[in-house]
Amino acid sequence: MMQPIDLKTNITTQLPEELVAFLQATGHDTAITGEPLYLVGGAVRDLFMGKSSFDLDLVTEGDAIALAQRLASTEGSPVTFHPRFQTARLLWRRWQIDIARTRSETYTYPGALPTVSPGGIETDLGRRDFTINAMAVALEPGRFGELLDCHRGLADLKQGLIRVLHPASFTDDATRIWRALRYEQRFGFHLEETTGLLLKQNIPRLDTISGDRIHYELECILKEEAPEKVLARAQELGVLAHLHPALHTGADLGGRFAAARASTAPQAPPENLYMALLTYPLSTREVEGLISFLHLRKNLARTLYDLALLRERQPNLARPEITPSQVYSELHGQAPEAIQALYLAAENPVARGNVRLYLDKLRYVKPSLTGDDLQKMGLAPGPRMKEILDELRLARLNGEINGRREEEILARRLLIG
Ligand code: ATP
Repeated sequence: MMQPIDLKTNITTQLPEELVAFLQATGHDTAITGEPLYLVGGAVRDLFMGKSSFDLDLVTEGDAIALAQRLASTEGSPVTFHPRFQTARLLWRRWQIDIARTRSETYTYPGALPTVSPGGIETDLGRRDFTINAMAVALEPGRFGELLDCHRGLADLKQGLIRVLHPASFTDDATRIWRALRYEQRFGFHLEETTGLLLKQNIPRLDTISGDRIHYELECILKEEAPEKVLARAQELGVLAHLHPALHTGADLGGRFAAARASTAPQAPPENLYMALLTYPLSTREVEGLISFLHLRKNLARTLYDLALLRERQPNLARPEITPSQVYSELHGQAPEAIQALYLAAENPVARGNVRLYLDKLRYVKPSLTGDDLQKMGLAPGPRMKEILDELRLARLNGEINGRREEEILARRLLIG
C-alpha cells in the first residue's frame, strides 16, 4: 500500500507556531471523544502552494457545535453557532476558524440550496467544488498531518488544473462558475478540458442563482489581488453578461482597477471603488436594478447610484466655459467614491480635468468668515446664514473675491440685499 503523504512539516513550517499548537491541541481533544477531525479546503491547498491561510476550515465526524463550544471556552473566544447546519465560526486570536460536521449535500433542483445530511469525511470531500479544494489533512494525534486525497487534488494542483468532481457540479450549483474563474485567474491555472466544457454549457444556469449568493461570489472576486483578470475572463466566456447584460470590462478596466488600488490606503480596501468602476457603463435605471438584485448595502448602493447620475451629467462637466463654482456644485455632496470613480473612468478629458480640480482643490475651498462672524455683523442664526456662507464660497471658488476683507464687503452687501 502507498504511504500516505505527510503534511506535518508543511504545517509546522508554514503556519504560525500558536496556530500549529492550536491544531495539535484540537486534535488531542478529538482523540478523547473519538470523533475524527480534519483540516479541509483552501487551507490544505495553500499548504501545498507554500502559502498560509488565515481562515481555516475544520470538519469533524462528530458534534461540531460541542467541539466549537469547548474550543471557545478555553480562551473565551467569540463564537457563533448554527446548530441546524452543525456549523460554528470561532474567532481565535487573529484567526477565523470554521468548524462543521462532515456532511453530504444533495440538490433537489438545479440552483436550489442543498439538502444537508451527516456523512463521513469522504462524503464531505465529495460535495466540494474542485479537486484542489477537496483535500483533507487528519489532525488526530496518531495521524496528524496525513493527507486524504480521494479526488486526486494534489495531481491537479501540480498540473495547474481546475477540475470539478462530477459532471453535474455546475448544474447543482452555478456559483461554482464564478469560483472556477476566480481560482483559475488567482493561481494562473487552466480549466481542465471537460470542466471547461461543462462550465460553458452551464452558464445560463447562473440566472437561477439568488442575488445574495452572486453578491457573495462577487465580493470574493473583488477581494482578489487582481479582480480585473477574473472579470475580463468572465466577459470572454459570457459569464459577466449574466451579472448584468450591460456590463463590459471595456478596453481599460485593468488600468482603472490598478489606479484604484494605487489611490486607496491599505486600511481602506478598494472594493467599493472597484464595484463603482465595474458598474460605470450602467444607466441609473440599470444600476437601480442591480442594487436591488444584489441587495447591496446602503453605502455602496449610494456610491453606485451617484456615479450613474454623474456619468449621465458628464457633459455638464465637459463644457469648456464651466466655472469652478459650477464644477463644485456638480460634484459637491456626491458620494466620495463615486467622484473618485468618475475621475478614473471619465471618457471626456475636460470633464476628467474638472473632477481632478475638484478633488485637489475646489472641495477644500471655504470662506474664512464663519457663522459667528456673520452674527457679529448683525445676522441672526437661520437659513439665510447658510445661504450667505454658500455665496461666499462660490465667489471664492470663482476667484471673484480674495481674502477676508473682500469677503466682509460681499457679506455686508448680501446682508443688505
Ligand atoms: P479562498 O482561498 O478563496 O478563501 P477557500 O477554499 O478557503 O478559498 P471558501 O469560500 O472559504 O474558499 O470555501 C471553503 C471550502 O468550501 C472550499 O475550499 C470548498 O471546498 C468548499 N466550497 C465553498 N464553496 C463551495 C461551493 N459553492 N460548492 C462546493 N464547495 C464549496
